[in-house]
Amino acid sequence: MSFKNNQNSPNTYDYIIAGGGMAGLSLAFYLNQSSLRNKSILIIDRDVKNTNDHTWCFWEKGQSPYEEIIAQKWKGVWFHGTDNFSQFLDIQQYTYKMIRGIDFYNYVIPILKQNPNITFLQADILEVSETVKTNKGDFYASEFVFDSSFRSKYNNPDYHNMLQHFKGWVIETSKPVFKVNEPTLFDFRTEQKNELRFVYVLPHSETKALIEFTIFSDNLIEDLEYEFYLKKYIEETLKVGDYQIKPEEYQISETEFGIVPMSDEPHEVLPMTKVIRIGTSGGYVKASTGYSFQRSQRFLQRLVKSLEQNIDIKNGMITNHWKGFLDTVLLNVMLKNRTPQDEIFTRLFKYNKPSQVLKFLDEDTSFFEDVALINTVPKPPFIKAAWNVLFKKLF
Ligand SMILES: Cc1cc2nc3c(=O)[nH]c(=O)nc-3n(C[C@H](O)[C@H](O)[C@H](O)COP(=O)(O)OP(=O)(O)OC[C@H]3O[C@@H](n4cnc5c(N)ncnc54)[C@H](O)[C@@H]3O)c2cc1C
Repeated sequence: MSFKNNQNSPNTYDYIIAGGGMAGLSLAFYLNQSSLRNKSILIIDRDVKNTNDHTWCFWEKGQSPYEEIIAQKWKGVWFHGTDNFSQFLDIQQYTYKMIRGIDFYNYVIPILKQNPNITFLQADILEVSETVKTNKGDFYASEFVFDSSFRSKYNNPDYHNMLQHFKGWVIETSKPVFKVNEPTLFDFRTEQKNELRFVYVLPHSETKALIEFTIFSDNLIEDLEYEFYLKKYIEETLKVGDYQIKPEEYQISETEFGIVPMSDEPHEVLPMTKVIRIGTSGGYVKASTGYSFQRSQRFLQRLVKSLEQNIDIKNGMITNHWKGFLDTVLLNVMLKNRTPQDEIFTRLFKYNKPSQVLKFLDEDTSFFEDVALINTVPKPPFIKAAWNVLFKKLF
């Protein structure tokens, strides 16, 4: 039986969750539903989590553990690619879903606060080992520290390191213009500048939508440049039906900015026996796409099961060397700009069932399904990239 904390050493907890963001709170959410809910848990974060700092989108079959707070769900998505390929795609067994960060925090944190064994601490984490040093004192974990506050440098030249960086505006229009059932997953009709650049559109209502300008590259751009492309997209490219939004017809009500690592550099999952890295810190981000919300849920559910059964599966992440190789090859094609990257995504969505592409991005496809999908992208650049990757591995 564990107590809220050890009465002899009040700063000792069974588990410490260092970083109470998406991964830290999701882990606590699953622990709270498990047989481990009596463990004493300390969650440390520097923020109070009272702003909408993220909008998470993902696709899934069936229900989410957070179904109650899904802000929007869609059965189809727009894709605007190269060569005038523009289609509204049926994603069949999948539903594309959106969770607003603020809804996630407002839902998960009060549930956790009902458990007297869970303590929240707002503090700056200074160092993580079996002891977590903060500006409000040192805390000790008798069993595990789950760390999502650590950030890798991603600078090892032997690996492929890219960034997914983006700026988004939630805009509100004076007229009802958006079709609530029609989000845009990818719109490549924006200058590519020898990188991969696209916009996605998530309508919240007929008068409100998140428009996000995203780049996959190895360097960032000035803030004004993201804004230039957002404005250009809204006022020139984005048409809802035949309707073009005029500059005086919209206002920006929220902004979002993010940088997500896209890297095949190995992550140190267990830097110390008692420290387990989770979330972006633990390498949960899919290297070739930057998606991690849904993967994190899977890995964390797996981690909690392994803790319950007292078996060691590191941080719950599923490592599949073949899928990892495919990610590395795609990163190599993109970093070395071996072929126009918007063309790769267009061909994937044009020549395959969209649901099959989503299944592939979720790493749920079989080897033969992978081969069928790979067959639809331009072959010479991928063969060159595969050779380059294998050569580097062997020599
Ligand atoms: C704006 C944005 C939008 C995204 N959208 C999507 C999406 O649509 N779909 C998707 O799959 N992925 C998306 N991602 C990628 C990924 O899902 C998120 O980055 C996700 O939040 C990662 O979870 P995490 O727990 O690893 O990091 P975070 O959620 O950032 O949590 C880390 C926590 O650690 C705390 N912390 C860090 N350092 C310290 C310190 N020294 N002291 C105290 N606290 C500290 C932070 O305050 C934070 O709360 C997005 C990323 C961003 C940035």
